Amino acid sequence: MLSCRFHKNDTLFSFMERIFAVFIMKAKTFEKNSAGIFWLFTAEYKLPTGGVVLISKNILTVRVEDIFEKKCGCPICLTIKASEDNSCEYISGSAMMEPDIRIETNRLGFCPEHFDMLLKTSQKLPLALILSTHLDEIKAEAYGENKTALGKRLKRGGEFEKTCYICSRTESDLDRFFHGMFKLYAQDEHFRKLFSEQEYICFPHRNLLLNLAQKALKKDVLRQFCEETERLSENRLVQIRNGLDEFCRSFDYRNIGKQLSENAENAPENAIEFITGKPKKD
Ligand SMILES: [Zn+2]
Ligand SMILES: [Zn+2]
Repeated sequence: MLSCRFHKNDTLFSFMERIFAVFIMKAKTFEKNSAGIFWLFTAEYKLPTGGVVLISKNILTVRVEDIFEKKCGCPICLTIKASEDNSCEYISGSAMMEPDIRIETNRLGFCPEHFDMLLKTSQKLPLALILSTHLDEIKAEAYGENKTALGKRLKRGGEFEKTCYICSRTESDLDRFFHGMFKLYAQDEHFRKLFSEQEYICFPHRNLLLNLAQKALKKDVLRQFCEETERLSENRLVQIRNGLDEFCRSFDYRNIGKQLSENAENAPENAIEFITGKPKKD
């Protein structure tokens, strides 16, 4: 997603100047944003003609090693959460004013889960502005300014309910993440060791990884990948199952006052998180 905003009249800037500005942008140092795993880049460049060009590029590339080095929970859940946090921060920041982003948020809207996330984490004014133009688009397309055929308007209305700007960004991030992850797994022994040291892999992501691996990996490493993924997932299942037993036993009058182990304390929450792949939100 690359966008350039020119302070002077656009027509004053030649095609070559634009190309040059993009070249400068690429030569600058990338900065890590607060999530620590996305590279956010912005640059300001004074053109020879006296104008100033502001260029920004949010390269949503999750660094695979950074995620796996955390060794904390399911690495895929972690990636999704980081991508969602980044999207919330991104669209309620300067990107909210960028026409190409607003066109997309107006068109796709948000799912209930991500609306909820935006309400909790974003500033109210940017959110209200995003909502205003999204509602304008819904009014024009689903209610119909010219009252086009009802069937057509209902079809478009239904589409609004199914799309989400953040879900679609997360999906793209995950595609790139998996591409990098399988490439590393196939080529790098250190990464294979890192993969096997993960805390666990949740049930839905165990299924997803095993499916994707069939196409992404060659036979020589496929078997190892599948065995490790199954091991990391099944061990967690057994651990949670034991935790649930202890949790249930704690309600027996004979166990009143007995301290619960860490594994049992949040056993129902951990079980739901494992089964659904939806980590508890902060
Ligand atoms: Zn997961
Ligand atoms: Zn969504």
